[in-house]
Amino acid sequence: MLQKQPWHKLSQLLGARGVKSDWTGFPEKLLKLTNDLAETHPCSGRCGGYMDVVKHSDGTYVGVCTSGCDKRTLQKKDLIVYSPDFTTIFSGLAQAFSINGAGHTEIDGLPAWQVGEYNPVASYRFPVVAMIEAQTSRIECTISQLAAKYKTPFFVLLPSAPSVTQSVQDVALRNGAKVFAYEDLIEFTNDAIQVRGNAASILSELATGWIKHIDPASGERYPTPPSATWGDIVVEFTANEAVTVSCKNKDHRQYSAEDFQMRDKRTNTKKPTKAWTFLQALALVNGNMTVEDITKVDKTKQEVSAKLKSLFQLTDDPIEWSSEDTAYKAKFIIRGGSKITVAGKRQKTTAA
Ligand SMILES: [Zn+2]
Repeated sequence: MLQKQPWHKLSQLLGARGVKSDWTGFPEKLLKLTNDLAETHPCSGRCGGYMDVVKHSDGTYVGVCTSGCDKRTLQKKDLIVYSPDFTTIFSGLAQAFSINGAGHTEIDGLPAWQVGEYNPVASYRFPVVAMIEAQTSRIECTISQLAAKYKTPFFVLLPSAPSVTQSVQDVALRNGAKVFAYEDLIEFTNDAIQVRGNAASILSELATGWIKHIDPASGERYPTPPSATWGDIVVEFTANEAVTVSCKNKDHRQYSAEDFQMRDKRTNTKKPTKAWTFLQALALVNGNMTVEDITKVDKTKQEVSAKLKSLFQLTDDPIEWSSEDTAYKAKFIIRGGSKITVAGKRQKTTAA
């Protein structure tokens, strides 16, 4: 039986502020002192409510139950207000769920913090937002505003499951977001926030679904790891119409002109397109292609760039123009030109 973690306290206490006895059960290491003294204190009597705190002229504090069940002296230290150490909590959350990003930032005007981005593959990044709100209408309103801000699917983390109502989930779905409670997914043990079981896979499964939706052919894409750049990628010709692709010397895959979407399906011969010929030419000169007349190859080059961006799911142009050298320069490594022969005739070293 899993011990219930006290994360729900984050959304139960007004403004996530309370005296020590409000925070009973919450990890002390995740609390921070404030300079404030509380004006109310939980009643220890049978009412389950609060006492008003009265400061007497001799400097002592007395709590008077608003329901009249108790009246007692309180120490000043009992009245110190604590608030959660959000920096530690949110960075712990981020680490637990493999979310990257530089710390958490409060989102302007919204009761929400962006704790980072979930970046499962290549350039796909999904914002991850934490909220401590408990009120359904406030949660729903915030989700709509976040959707307008991000224009991409995003995750919302709430402390406790009762906040994730059917209505909140529906609003999230309509706004391309997914909300879940982390109450049962993470725990504070050995001074660190840790994920229980395989909870971390929740994000990856959802993200895979989103990527498929955004890009139905994503399953055929090269599995470019997050943070990889063009410089990490090697395209090596092994035959006229075959290449081996790798990234950081891993994930070796064989691809044909067809896999690169560079075969002309309309003709009977089904010959590789000009884009493939361009790649071959690029391989013959190890990625540094001098061009005499750019207007003759510019269109093909744009097509090659677009196909490569799609295959590798990277957003920047893989082939740069150097006006100094009047040459196209591949940002990735392309080689294997010695494996290329075309119908007995040697490839020209430029595509122009
Ligand atoms: Zn009472």
